Amino acid sequence: MQHGPLRNAYLDALGIDRWVRRDAPAEAPIEAPAAPAPQVAEAVAPKPPAVPVQARVREPLGPITDWGVLRERVATCTACDLCKTRTQTVFGVGNTQADWLIIGEAPGGEEDRQGEPFVGRAGQLLNAMLLAIGLPRESVFIANILKCRPPGNRDPKPEEVSNCLPFLSAQIALLKPKIILAVGRIAAQNLLATDAPLARLRGKLHQFGEANTPLVITYHPAYLLRTPADKRKAWEDLKFARDTYQRLVTN
Ligand code: URA
Repeated sequence: MQHGPLRNAYLDALGIDRWVRRDAPAEAPIEAPAAPAPQVAEAVAPKPPAVPVQARVREPLGPITDWGVLRERVATCTACDLCKTRTQTVFGVGNTQADWLIIGEAPGGEEDRQGEPFVGRAGQLLNAMLLAIGLPRESVFIANILKCRPPGNRDPKPEEVSNCLPFLSAQIALLKPKIILAVGRIAAQNLLATDAPLARLRGKLHQFGEANTPLVITYHPAYLLRTPADKRKAWEDLKFARDTYQRLVTN
């Protein structure tokens, strides 16, 4: 857990105002008053219905026991039209021994150019969010629901998700993360096969897949860049994820 000036620096990087009682000692824990939940686009936007993960897998990949083989399968995938517009696939990045798996939606323009997830402005905020709970970017594994950029950064189509999810499932099978943090509505709804709004998915411990991997949901950093008022709620989610992980590894 980050304390004192270091934690404060991370909270500043997140753009979260620090609430400190005037009579409190300099490094007192931060307790912010609960903000009323604003009506937010991410929480209410109507979206295509989610289909259970297994039902959407058109062609099972079969067991893949090697990261290199999986990387090659992703790089050469032509299962949907996104292969025609991508610059390159974006496999995922990070520590293949990581306890933490971070899952986003799909590559954006910068990710498509660089071949790495979360390298744009949203990526910088994601890095700060992770550091705020003591996780340098290099210590986790970061992947997306889709491995190719949807043109214009539009939402993934259901058939694109169904074609691509087996890759993520294979990544999860290889990584065997102790905890998954899904950022944003698209990742959350597709992992949980639900249409529930993000507001109903946050603040609870979910489980994913056959291994029942603990899964925590928070806002997408790109959304937080547009809606900084919700950074405080994201911070609550991050602390919940960190505490859940600490409970897991100490039991
Ligand atoms: N948004 C995502 O969901 N993933 C990325 O890799 C970049 C932006």
